Amino acid sequence: MKSNRAVRQWGFGLESARDLGLTSGNYGVDNLIIFTELVEGDSSRKIVEIICRTSWLKSENHCGRIERVLKVHNMQKTLARFEEYREMVKIKASKLPKKHPRCLADGNELLRFYGTTVVCSLGLNGSSSLCISERCCVCRIIRNGFSAKKELKGGIGVFTTSTSGRAFESIEILEEEPAARKALIVCRVIAGRVHRPLENIQEMAGQTGFDSLAGKVGLYSNIEELYLLNSRALLPCFVVICKP
Ligand SMILES: [Zn+2]
Repeated sequence: MKSNRAVRQWGFGLESARDLGLTSGNYGVDNLIIFTELVEGDSSRKIVEIICRTSWLKSENHCGRIERVLKVHNMQKTLARFEEYREMVKIKASKLPKKHPRCLADGNELLRFYGTTVVCSLGLNGSSSLCISERCCVCRIIRNGFSAKKELKGGIGVFTTSTSGRAFESIEILEEEPAARKALIVCRVIAGRVHRPLENIQEMAGQTGFDSLAGKVGLYSNIEELYLLNSRALLPCFVVICKP
């Protein structure tokens, strides 16, 4: 079954991206960014639900619930930038004395969660257009991509998680934005060469030669927390708006 394969392959390669309809055609016209709401019963929505729920079962806190799932139709130039970054990581990996097969194959692509907030009416009453507020993180990220300044957690990199539960926990609702809703952005990520520091993550961030840093490593040597050192390494694919 297609959906099982996409979920099982947590090391999310291109094959799974195809299953989710993320690689072929119809990414919308340039300069026009579109969301499509995936209604209940849609096959891509089912996969997103399974990916999210799998980790909720493991986590103690079940408060994260899916309200809406929106598929992001990225612009051609965004996709091109993501692919260029992948090529750069692959070339860099090919020059290393020690070979990393996953880096050489596809830049070590993974599927990750990024926890953030949405302040506009996106997803409410069928609204699927982007707002222009700088305070609305979901719309800003979809419009401009991840920002090395704004999304740089702890001065290290863009913080992503392998589980929706951990991403959900990481979201902070600011006091001045009481109406903000929590959202998870499901991203394709070029992890490249992952450094797994045991401690002193701040010190390691300055070292060269790595593309990402593992924070907390979970069960089954799954990298629960991963910091991407380059904001171009992330491609938003789905936005999951959570129930309050
Ligand atoms: Zn917005």
